[in-house]
Amino acid sequence: MKINKIVWFFIAILFIASIYGAYTLGTQKEENLLYTPEGLEYQETLTQVSTIGALLNGVYDGGVSFGDLKRYGDFGIGTFNGLDGEMVALDGEFYQIKSDGSVYKVKDSMKTPFANVTFFDGDREVKLDEGMNYEDIRDFIDDMIPTKNIFYAIKIDGTFSYVKTRSVPKQVKPYPPLAEVTKDQSIFEFNDAKGTIVGFRSPSYVGGMNVPGYHLHFITEDRRAGGHLLEVKVKDANATMDYTSDLFMVLPSEDDFYRVDLTNIKEEEVEKVEK
Ligand SMILES: [Zn+2]
Repeated sequence: MKINKIVWFFIAILFIASIYGAYTLGTQKEENLLYTPEGLEYQETLTQVSTIGALLNGVYDGGVSFGDLKRYGDFGIGTFNGLDGEMVALDGEFYQIKSDGSVYKVKDSMKTPFANVTFFDGDREVKLDEGMNYEDIRDFIDDMIPTKNIFYAIKIDGTFSYVKTRSVPKQVKPYPPLAEVTKDQSIFEFNDAKGTIVGFRSPSYVGGMNVPGYHLHFITEDRRAGGHLLEVKVKDANATMDYTSDLFMVLPSEDDFYRVDLTNIKEEEVEKVEK
């Protein structure tokens, strides 16, 4: 009789513990951003939401809100749930550039399936030569940086005699792969545009996780147009690099991300949709 009581006592404890466990697991799934460092290092961290491989494979819904993302950076690029346009974050303001060319301020409640942000704090500024195109800028910065093995946040401010950008239309489920979507991308061209190019240079070893090399977006000074940068010609502009050695990644806890096959992401595929 006594033993029976003890056994039932332990069964009850196990039962309560399992309910509590399931409950805490459930709540953890809701909170994607658990890393809240303090101090200077925090400012030098690139925070990345999801992977470029997941985006290539149609994982266009994520659980991280822009309200949360803003705690991790005032500068960056990305997209929106449903792949509803291109995101530019600059000086703490987050913008959505839709495929019809219109620009909106991003609401805190909106969510992202892919984003890169940091607190921008320039380490080196250089003047770009007039006439430089995208490739020239890449070569120029490549020659200037102390190593190709860390991340750089890159901000290019000024006037551009030509800028070509794109944005992507909002998708509905079942989501097609990104290569299908970019076939329908909108192209925007600007002449004598004043504005800012915002983005990152990532090391070549990030393939599958992020875009190796340069991934840049553009927004005009009046914040009324922009997009994912495809081509540019410098008129009078300065490039500022923020050397970034720390990386914090937030992987989605959504089912789509859990199920997608990320074992075979080809760099050419990333190149095709981003360049
Ligand atoms: Zn982009």
